[in-house]
Amino acid sequence: MIEVQSLNHTFKIGKKGKEKKIEVLKNIDFHINQGEIIAIVGKSGSGKSTLLQVVAGFMKPDTGSVKVNNTEIAKFNEKQSAAFRLDHFGFIFQNFQLLPNQNVFENVELPLKLKGVQPSIRKHNVEKILEKVGLSHVADHYPNELSGGQQQRVSIARALITNPPIILADEPTGSLDSQTEIEILDLIKHLNKSANITFMIITHDEEVAQIAHRKLRMHDGLLLGDVKHVI
Ligand code: ADP
Ligand code: MG
Repeated sequence: MIEVQSLNHTFKIGKKGKEKKIEVLKNIDFHINQGEIIAIVGKSGSGKSTLLQVVAGFMKPDTGSVKVNNTEIAKFNEKQSAAFRLDHFGFIFQNFQLLPNQNVFENVELPLKLKGVQPSIRKHNVEKILEKVGLSHVADHYPNELSGGQQQRVSIARALITNPPIILADEPTGSLDSQTEIEILDLIKHLNKSANITFMIITHDEEVAQIAHRKLRMHDGLLLGDVKHVI
């Protein structure tokens, strides 16, 4: 489903004239099969989030190929990337990235608005998904009126609302206590099993990586080893 080949990316840091180049992605190759949960594990600064940004098309790599369902996305322009993302990816981030001035319903509805779905269908689908993640009773609450776990459920509902085949998650439990972490990981496992959604999960936390079918280890811009693991 995702095929990444010979991916390289460099950031320039520092003042003009005294710029330093840092290689953040070094010749990365990997693939993700449909229905898999893949964990990319590594220390802070190893390049995990950059890899996710490139896979999502938010960032262009210097060189290399990213294919999603056999479509090359590494050379898309911004408009093409945005349209492709809406159809193929859902996102979950450590800091939830909810809109503070929109309530739960409106946050989850947003991707459907962007896709031009008509209001009555939007309402029906949002209500269905809020029920699925156990948030129907807080549909009119604002993000700052929710617990961290509830906020992450909102962002999961928003990720699911367009029925994407793939969810990209960057430290999805990084801001949660350990009990809430277990609940969110259980929800991810359930979505993978029941709806066959493919997950790419970025994490520095070995516990989180335990839910993956395969773990890929990132170290200093290199993607190492492919550790098989069965849930
Ligand atoms: P991780 O998610 O594993 O913590 P990142 O991909 O965020 O790692 O960062 C990898 C390296 O790239 C770090 O050294 C970081 O400082 C650097 N980096 C990340 N984003 C940028 C950027 N936009 N500009 C310059 N350097 C960056
Ligand atoms: Mg990161």
